[in-house]
Amino acid sequence: MKLPIYLDNHSTTPCDPRVVEVMLPYFTEKFGNAASRNHSFGWEVEEGVEHARKQIAHLIGADAKEIIFTSGATESDNLALQGIVAMYREKGDHIITSATEHRAVIDTAKYLEKKGVTVTFLPVDKAGMVSADDVRNAITDKTILISVMLANNEIGTINPIAEIGKVAKEKGIIFHCDATQGVGKIPVNVQEMGIDLMSFSAHKIYGPKGIGALYVRRKAPRVRLEPMIYGGGHERGMRSGTLPVPLIVGFGKACELCEQEMATESVRMAKMRDRLQEGIMGAMDEVYLNGHPTERLPGNLNISFAYVEGEALLMGVKEIALSSGSACTSATLEPSYVLRALGVGSDLAHSSIRFGLGRFNTDEEIEYTIDRMLKAVTHLREMSPLYEMAKEGVDLTTVQWAAH
Ligand SMILES: *Cc1c(COP(=O)(O)O)cnc(C)c1O
Repeated sequence: MKLPIYLDNHSTTPCDPRVVEVMLPYFTEKFGNAASRNHSFGWEVEEGVEHARKQIAHLIGADAKEIIFTSGATESDNLALQGIVAMYREKGDHIITSATEHRAVIDTAKYLEKKGVTVTFLPVDKAGMVSADDVRNAITDKTILISVMLANNEIGTINPIAEIGKVAKEKGIIFHCDATQGVGKIPVNVQEMGIDLMSFSAHKIYGPKGIGALYVRRKAPRVRLEPMIYGGGHERGMRSGTLPVPLIVGFGKACELCEQEMATESVRMAKMRDRLQEGIMGAMDEVYLNGHPTERLPGNLNISFAYVEGEALLMGVKEIALSSGSACTSATLEPSYVLRALGVGSDLAHSSIRFGLGRFNTDEEIEYTIDRMLKAVTHLREMSPLYEMAKEGVDLTTVQWAAH
């Protein structure tokens, strides 16, 4: 086993060597511009792009013509929200989204709010789930877009997307889904889920960074978007710019591999995750699972270790790459807004650690991680007066702390 161990696969994943292999020729001998229609250099790369478009579309039950290439899911989210608002503003000025969306959706929605759009940020339940009834009840005659993510990037909770899609269809409202964490890991079908626009990204599924897609429905309804980037009219006019062919070819291969291996990979991942969960939670007191106990991404585990500061814990296990529920910004240490939306108190939010398992993790790494976490948490708690008081039976909520 090699150190360090990478358990931060929700942030990004390594490129699968099989992906790199198909990309390589497109940096050198196949270097043409896919938009060059007059010579073979253009034709051969266009063929590569169109093959990738089919591989990507196939994974999500779409038609190849419905795939618009972007630089990643951040751009896809921006294009979906800004593009719909710009196109349909005359029909209405209200959009519905949720409190636990990725920053790419939350921040775009907030920007639109500043421009006069009304945004409803739906709450989630204790497990982090959005309810389709809440979506239905939030709809007004001014609503032009619903945007709810498939699976959350911190807690892995999977939303009832097909139910929400049904509500959207019933009311005739365009439905966007940020499916970046779900695509390639769990089955996704834009038809069955009633999705009109969908964002996803190659680097979360063992493809290269810098390439993503927005699925844009062409039939029933035909969704139209105002572009954010103007130029040569590439990608049906929705996203101009010379196509990054090597990245696209890699994205296609990454999708094909996910489609072929998802069934076995998700079982293996869930087994490793369950072992990690059991190994940690079965051996320690005062540890709490964040997110949904069952409706969760197979590679996700998010745990709060009471009386331990998440950032301190990460420092104690430097040879394991993990993520904590605190966003270390310049001046403040802000607890995760996702955990806060679940109703997790700020202490437990600061105590949370996200484990993100991926394709290249092994059982051996999981055993090592369990052992290291137990030792590190025990060590930090031994130094914690609060933990000691709690163990002595002191109810910390009743303690009068003297101010000096
Ligand atoms: C990673 C991620 C994004 C951003 O994707 P990029 O391709 O890095 O821009 C958006 N949404 C979710 C849910 C993500 O996990």
